[in-house]
Amino acid sequence: MQRYSLLSLARHALSHHQNWQRAWRQPPLRKDYEVLIIGAGGHGLATAHYLAREHGITDVAVLEKGWLGGGNIARNTVTIRSNYLRDESIPFYVKSVALYEQLTRQLNFNLMYSKRSMIDVVQTYPKLREIRRRMFNMHNHGSTYEPISVDELRRRIPPLTGGGPDARLPIVAGMVHTDAAVCRHDAVAWGLARSADDQGVEIHQNTAVQALLRGPDGRICGVETERGTVRAKKVAVAVSGHTTTLTETIGLRLPVKTFNLTAFVSEPVKPLIDVIVNCPDIGVYLSQSDRGELVIGGANDPGQSYRRDIKQHVFEDAVVAMLELFPSFKRLKLMRQWGGTLDIAHDASPIVSKTAIPGLYVSAGWWGGFKAVPAGGYTLAHLIAHDEPHPLIEPFSLDRFKHLDYVLESGTTAAR
Ligand SMILES: Cc1cc2nc3c(=O)[nH]c(=O)nc-3n(C[C@H](O)[C@H](O)[C@H](O)COP(=O)(O)OP(=O)(O)OC[C@H]3O[C@@H](n4cnc5c(N)ncnc54)[C@H](O)[C@@H]3O)c2cc1C
Repeated sequence: MQRYSLLSLARHALSHHQNWQRAWRQPPLRKDYEVLIIGAGGHGLATAHYLAREHGITDVAVLEKGWLGGGNIARNTVTIRSNYLRDESIPFYVKSVALYEQLTRQLNFNLMYSKRSMIDVVQTYPKLREIRRRMFNMHNHGSTYEPISVDELRRRIPPLTGGGPDARLPIVAGMVHTDAAVCRHDAVAWGLARSADDQGVEIHQNTAVQALLRGPDGRICGVETERGTVRAKKVAVAVSGHTTTLTETIGLRLPVKTFNLTAFVSEPVKPLIDVIVNCPDIGVYLSQSDRGELVIGGANDPGQSYRRDIKQHVFEDAVVAMLELFPSFKRLKLMRQWGGTLDIAHDASPIVSKTAIPGLYVSAGWWGGFKAVPAGGYTLAHLIAHDEPHPLIEPFSLDRFKHLDYVLESGTTAAR
């Protein structure tokens, strides 16, 4: 792999940047692979990277219906955090944050990873109780969550001038999660793709999978694509919001539903906020990008949907909520708005699991799956390589729905 460095940048400047190697190849699609991964989003590409890196499995094709990194990984608000509630969840997300912290160096690709803390703005006592429960449990698992006073909260977020004692919902407390970070989403996809490709994995864009195929013995045996049949003994589905449309082609129903989530950005302004601000009671969160834009997100549209645009009333709800706490932002112009799909399991926890069909694996339920890209890929690669779950994902198997072993994480974010 061609190394990126200050020196290589300077050397290539001499040839007007005409001679850089392509970041990944475009090999011909073969008929047979050891492993197929469907979906070149964050999770599919991370799985390919770790399959090669950790397990030496490189006879792998990643099949992507559009362009790599063009799905939800391109549409999210890039918040990385580990402030979850359950014993089962926190270690998984702590691992993900730890893997993220090594990734720029490991991939030799600048992910613009910026650790900047997240501050929860608490406006109701039930939320304060929930968040304090989380704090105690997070401390048990090595994650950070510290209470701060309202004065300190206002000091650290200067434009937060709403939510005073006479407001509809006065601010009652703040909680700081210092492990939280943001990171450039496209770079995560591109860095992982470049590394997987360098280790021998093939990435095939414009190759939509139309159906999963089962052999006479009941095992998975490959997939039908718009470019023909491709065979493999192991197939992993990592298609985010489209999981059920694929698994239903083989008669496999999963306990996930797909929803639309939206986000929008303001015009760039001078540095205003250097933390991620999360307002769980009113359902809005925001951070300021390196370019100065405010990146703003709200709650998901509660109706099931595959739409990727933005519903006006969902957008208005988020804007109204934001202006309650940040009244001065009414002068900001908004530049872009967009939506994406989230697949949410019934207990709002991910599914990284074998299925009832031998050789078929799914990675789904990622309503906050950007933060989970490294750990999701790392653990799915382990599952594919050993046909046994990594300890971190044992609680996230499909079996939990049979035994009612839910890992309930509903209510731990603005989005759900
Ligand atoms: C507005 C918004 C804000 C968000 N904010 C955050 C956040 O701040 N923090 C966070 O952690 N998460 C966030 N998320 C969630 C996060 O983006 C997703 O959970 C995560 O990107 C999903 O994993 P992925 O990257 O693998 O999915 P994707 O990038 O969607 O990858 C799946 C890929 O599968 C491909 N595909 C689908 N069907 C097929 C098929 N039949 N054949 C071949 N390929 C197929 C798609 O084209 C796509 O490229 C947000 C999501 C949205 C929409």
